[in-house]
Amino acid sequence: MERFGLVGLPNAGKSSLYNALTNGAALAAPYPFATKDPNIGVAKVLDPRLDALAEMSKTQKTVYATVEVVDIGGLVEGASKGEGLGNKFLANIREVDAIVFVLRAFEDDDIPGPSDPLEHLRIVEIELALADLETVETRLSRAQKTSRMDKSVTEEMEALERAQVHLAEGRPLYRAGITEDDRALLAPHFLLTARRVLAVVNVAEDKIDTIPEMEAIVRAELAPPGSASANDVEVLGMSVQLEAEAAQLTGQDRIDMLEALGLGEGALPRMVRSAYHLLGLRTYFTTGEKETRAWTFNAGAKAPECAGKIHTDLQRGFIRADVIAWDELLAIGSWNKAKDLGKIRVEGKDYEVCDGDTLEIRHNS
Ligand code: GDP
Repeated sequence: MERFGLVGLPNAGKSSLYNALTNGAALAAPYPFATKDPNIGVAKVLDPRLDALAEMSKTQKTVYATVEVVDIGGLVEGASKGEGLGNKFLANIREVDAIVFVLRAFEDDDIPGPSDPLEHLRIVEIELALADLETVETRLSRAQKTSRMDKSVTEEMEALERAQVHLAEGRPLYRAGITEDDRALLAPHFLLTARRVLAVVNVAEDKIDTIPEMEAIVRAELAPPGSASANDVEVLGMSVQLEAEAAQLTGQDRIDMLEALGLGEGALPRMVRSAYHLLGLRTYFTTGEKETRAWTFNAGAKAPECAGKIHTDLQRGFIRADVIAWDELLAIGSWNKAKDLGKIRVEGKDYEVCDGDTLEIRHNS
């Protein structure tokens, strides 16, 4: 399962966002870590396409895709120099696939800390870059020693040297436009800033009309169009407090509250979808009377690999996939009708599955 880590200064709204994201999901998925670590939870990837297919199939059970969310506390200004919990927070971040910055933009005299999201961004980025610099310098001196005996580490050493130049200037690697080759060479070092970033700008509950403006301010600083970070960073504004309140409601009450506030489906589904997009994740569906389910796969994966998400037997014994796009199926109204109309395509092992495909896998058991 993919894992997102929430990172930010104290009182930015991380715990509130964590609660909003994982609310109710614990019921959806019994989860081994849940009892061990209160800061790791599971969030449902809400998806209206899945809901529509479930309704069409009058399905007994709807299974959403899920992601893990980790609330990473402990980052304060000077953490890389040992302030607060020091570098302890870093161990948790190394294990996440994408970093979610929570940047505070709400003012509240009772809650300490800056309310300028760019100030939050500056501190968070410098702490992460300094932490990476420390890692890179340690690894570099080791690599320099071994490279004398073993020329195969030269490439890795050079990648570390290039990273060091950026980090020493306080530039996180997602802003540095590092090549895919360098990214691969640096991967074993689990650098924090060598991953993709989603920045959540947390605006006040009574200032939701400023969301577009706040997003634009943060985007202009973090990922201006055409910049090295433009593809690796996304920015999303929301009122974490309102989202958290809505997340406590269920069904129609939740929809009514969000609609009354003009928040549409709410920002949380969009947030999870943005993170999915950043990580190159895609979704396909299976649907029937018993179960309608979303499956996560990596963009570009072929049909057998996608079948393997359901069960390795389906990958091993893969014969073919019957395929139709979710919206086409929905417009027709049922799988059998689509079949009668000849709208179900038969695809072989080289088929690259598309986001939103509905599949039925044929396999040898
Ligand atoms: P964390 O330290 O980053 O985990 O931040 P928390 O989620 O614990 O939030 C810190 C405090 O700010 C709590 O008292 C929250 O209720 C409050 N808070 C979070 N988001 C908002 C918001 O959008 N508006 C206001 N007024 N308070 C908020």
